[in-house]
This record gives sequence, structure tokens and C-alpha cells, in this order.
Amino acid sequence: MQTAEFRAAVVSWIDDHGGQELALSPDRSGSIDAVLGHQRRIQRMLFDAGLMRWGWPERAGGLGGTPALRAVLGEELTGRAIVHTAPWSMHEVLGPAVLEFGPPDLVADAFPRLLRGEEIWCQGFSEPDAGSDLGSLRTTATRDGDGWVINGEKLWTSFAHHASRCVVLARTGEPRSGSRGVSAFLVDMDTPGITASPLRTMADVDEFCSTSFLNVAVPANRLLGSPGGGWQVAQYILSCERGPIFWQRGAWLGHHLAKLVPAARDARSQALVGDAFQQLWAFRARSMATQRQIAQGNLPGPEASVDKIMIAATDQAVFDAARELLDGGLETDDSPAGAAWRREWAYSRAATIYGGTSEIQKDIVSLRLLGLPRGA
Ligand SMILES: Cc1cc2nc3c(=O)[nH]c(=O)nc-3n(C[C@H](O)[C@H](O)[C@H](O)COP(=O)(O)OP(=O)(O)OC[C@H]3O[C@@H](n4cnc5c(N)ncnc54)[C@H](O)[C@@H]3O)c2cc1C
Repeated sequence: MQTAEFRAAVVSWIDDHGGQELALSPDRSGSIDAVLGHQRRIQRMLFDAGLMRWGWPERAGGLGGTPALRAVLGEELTGRAIVHTAPWSMHEVLGPAVLEFGPPDLVADAFPRLLRGEEIWCQGFSEPDAGSDLGSLRTTATRDGDGWVINGEKLWTSFAHHASRCVVLARTGEPRSGSRGVSAFLVDMDTPGITASPLRTMADVDEFCSTSFLNVAVPANRLLGSPGGGWQVAQYILSCERGPIFWQRGAWLGHHLAKLVPAARDARSQALVGDAFQQLWAFRARSMATQRQIAQGNLPGPEASVDKIMIAATDQAVFDAARELLDGGLETDDSPAGAAWRREWAYSRAATIYGGTSEIQKDIVSLRLLGLPRGA
């Protein structure tokens, strides 16, 4: 399947199913329950129509083709705000790594349910004292017969309270083993001992959780990769995050920027919108090259830190422009549409934090791409 042919099929499906009416109305988009329920319904329909399956291998319930097809699907859906980018990203963040490192039986069993929206997966990496410095994580996994027992606490676990499974990074080496002593597991969230406690964000949604693991028994076949190979899994996941996920976030930003154009009536407003537009298209040009690289089977390395810096800055430029153009409305308008702009502006503040902060990305660019000396 070629991308142009696939795009035409997606657009035609959207038109046949009500077009923009498929989008969740702003009065419901502040509820994570509603957002996820809506997404599950869309995913089920797309899966049954075959469109959700393109870009994934047959052994995972897919129909084959490159990840570029998934980028197209995400672009057409988020570009019309039919799904929200954050929850839509989760199968893109975690799916490729489970395909790469998971046992074939597990992939064949769990993946079709993930694609059909019957399951949501979450990412249990960050901890109260391990964010940027992920290698210092303290959650442990100890051997118990053939399996493992996990203990510890994860933080900022997006959608954990709605998730069926979690990719957990845990220490299987000695306490000072750093990134070498980390392993990755796909853990069922209904295992006794797991508690996901929602945290309300400044966008006023309970998107993420503090997630505790108390003597959580994990079977041997839930290890992803090899014992001590969790860092490789984590790096793979971070590389995949720079692919279709960023592309669809760009489409989401384009959708919001287009809504601002009619309000840009004076020179200052036009300059703000113009600047955000320039940043968005510079990002898209950059990201297009990354999508092509991924479609050829090459996951991006440190160079994709540039993509992350650009998309985060663009995100904030778009919603800062909205804040100015809405002229106080973003702070005071409590209508569903006003509240939705406010949530999006607040969420855009997190763009320079999640998936690796902008400071860390700039470190990577200066040290690994530009070869500058450390500490200069
Ligand atoms: C909306 C959102 C969703 C998230 N979802 C998830 C999720 O689903 N799963 C998950 O595991 N995590 C998730 N996270 C957590 C995210 O990965 C971390 O917030 C991020 O890695 C930063 O870690 P931290 O918050 O501990 O900040 P810290 O690492 O403590 O950093 C604090 C500040 O210090 C700076 N800093 C730290 N080290 C350096 C350095 N070496 N050089 C220069 N500056 C430095 C950082 O840039 C930052 O400004 C999410 C975060 C957000 C905001």
C-alpha cells in the first residue's frame, strides 16, 4: 500500500463516517474518561475497516506496510481533532518496542487488542527521583522461581488508571548498576499489588498517575529482551517517539493554528501567527526527513533531538499566539471552547518536559552532534 493511496482511503473513510462530526465535542474533551472512550470507539471502527492495521506486521494483527502509513493515519485524524494526540500516541510509543523485544506469543495475543482499542498501555519509566536521570531508577525486579517480583513507585505514568498493561523499567542489577542493571517488562495492570493514583495536571485533567508496585508477581514471559537489556528497550522507545507521534502532533498544531487565522486582524497578531506558522513548517520539513528514514527501517539516533526541540518550541509558539489573540479569553472564557483552548495552552507547557526535556535534548545536540566539550 502506497502512502497516497492509503491517505485517500483514510480521507474517504472519514468523509463516509461524518467527517468533522467524528470529533469529540469540546464540552466532553476535558474528561479523560470521555476522551479515551471516544478514542476506543474510533479505533475499533478503524481496525474493523482495516485502516488501523496498516503499517503494522501481520504477526501483530497488522496488514504490513511501513510506519509512514501510521503517520498518515495519525495526521488525518489529529489534523481534524478526531482524536487527541496524547492518548493516540500511546500505541505508537510502546507498540514498536513490544514488537521488537516481546515474545511472539505475547505479541500475537496482546497486539490486536491494542490496535482495536480494547487495551490501552502505559509507560512506567519515570520515578520521583529518576526523570532525566533515568539510569538512577530504584524500582526493583527480583527473581522468584521462573518469574519476577516488582517493587517501587513510578511517577507521571500517563493513563495508568485506564491502562490494561504497562511497560515497566525496573532494576534487576545491583543498586549502583546504573543503566546496565535495568530490565523492561510488560506488566498486566490488574496484577495484585499495583495501585494507580491519578494526579490532576495544571490543564485540569487527571491524565497521569503516581503508580506503586508492591510485591507484584510478573511471569517470565513478560520480560522484554534480555535480563539487563532494559536500557536498549528504553532507547528504542525514545527513538520511536520521534516518528509518527511528532508528525501527528504537528498536524494537531496546524489544526489549532488555522483556527486562529481569522482572529489575526492587526500587525502584531499576524506576526505571531506568521512566526508560529514558520516554526511549524520548519518542523514539518525536518520531521518529514525523519519519517522517511524510519520508513526505510532506520530508527533515528541523537539527530532526532533536533526534532524534539523544534516540535516543543512550535507547540508553545502556537498556543502562546492563541493566548494573545484570544485577548483574555484563554484565561477567562469558561465556555467549552474557551476551556479547551486553556487546556491546550497549559498542556503545551509540558512539551519541553515530556519525552526528554529541551535542556537534555540541547545537551545531546551539543555533545553528540556538534562535538562540543562537556561543561563548556
Ligand atoms: C505531560 C507529561 C506526561 C508524562 N508521561 C509520562 C509517562 O507516561 N511515563 C513516564 O515514565 N514519564 C512520563 N512523564 C515524565 C517525563 O518523562 C519527565 O517529566 C521528564 O523525563 C523529566 O524528568 P523530571 O520531571 O524528573 O525532571 P528532572 O529530570 O528533575 O529535571 C528538572 C529540570 O532540570 C533540568 N535538568 C535535569 N538534568 C539536566 C542536565 N543534565 N542538564 C541540563 N538540565 C538538566 C531539566 O531539563 C528540567 O528543566 C511525563 C511528563 C509530562 C510533563
